[in-house]
Amino acid sequence: MSKFLRVKCDCGEESVVFGDSKTSVNCAKCGTQIIKSSGGRALVNCRILEVLS
Ligand SMILES: [Zn+2]
Repeated sequence: MSKFLRVKCDCGEESVVFGDSKTSVNCAKCGTQIIKSSGGRALVNCRILEVLS
């Protein structure tokens, strides 16, 4: 199931990302890779604040 996630990077920047993203996502503020693409399933590399339905 596809969901959006509200996540918070270690630097404090919050982002909304697609939970099934097939591409990597970097933090807009510090550039840390917060979503890692891994063979079709995204790995969240930061804190999940909220799952948006
Ligand atoms: Zn950051």
